[in-house]
Amino acid sequence: MTEIKPFYDSEITCPVCDKTIKVTKVRSKFVRLLKHDEDFCPHYETINPVLYEAWVCSFCGYAAHNSVYEHITTAGRKAVLEKITPNWTSREFTGERNYEKALEAFKLVLYNLQVREAPYSEFAKICLRIAWIYRYMGNQGEEERFLKYAYDYYKKVYTRENLKDSSMDEYTCMYMIGVLAKKLNLISEAKLWFSRLISFSIDPREKDKIKPFILENAREQIQLLKNVINDEEEKSE
Ligand SMILES: [Zn+2]
Repeated sequence: MTEIKPFYDSEITCPVCDKTIKVTKVRSKFVRLLKHDEDFCPHYETINPVLYEAWVCSFCGYAAHNSVYEHITTAGRKAVLEKITPNWTSREFTGERNYEKALEAFKLVLYNLQVREAPYSEFAKICLRIAWIYRYMGNQGEEERFLKYAYDYYKKVYTRENLKDSSMDEYTCMYMIGVLAKKLNLISEAKLWFSRLISFSIDPREKDKIKPFILENAREQIQLLKNVINDEEEKSE
């Protein structure tokens, strides 16, 4: 009998160079969630599927989050072929990943997003995941640096991006901004975003659009922050 391993390689077609590539996936039966942090960072017993979410084509250098890998635009594809592929040295990303390997893959995704001039929501999502990986590693300095990027991107998403086509609704976005502000010790900013979210819930038409656990969490956060002194020195930009 062959032993079933937690990882397996799956073949897909790269949407940029059209070659058949391999990506490593995690078998869900090996994944045991222990808890989520306030910013939804998941913690697992052993196998961590977050480390496998960044997919990279070893032929052309195209890299993206696994949830949107196939959804590249024509302009994005052109940008990768013109600006990434000519300088690309083939690197292997299949098989088991440690934190360093996962970071390498995620940073390639980030670079691809810059080259493709991708939406802010994609930047926010990737910066948040990079921050989580640094958190798993216990590297607080780098974690904070990427949390700050994610915070700035989520604010841009909220003010400038149409969230209708996004997987994230505007209230979840507001909650994320509040949570990240709190993590960055920007306490009055955090209070502002949570109260803003709660004030929307007074309108019954809006309340239906807010996910119940988001509203509940925002109320909890406001309570927790009540004791934090309002005019405390905030970290400046
Ligand atoms: Zn490719």
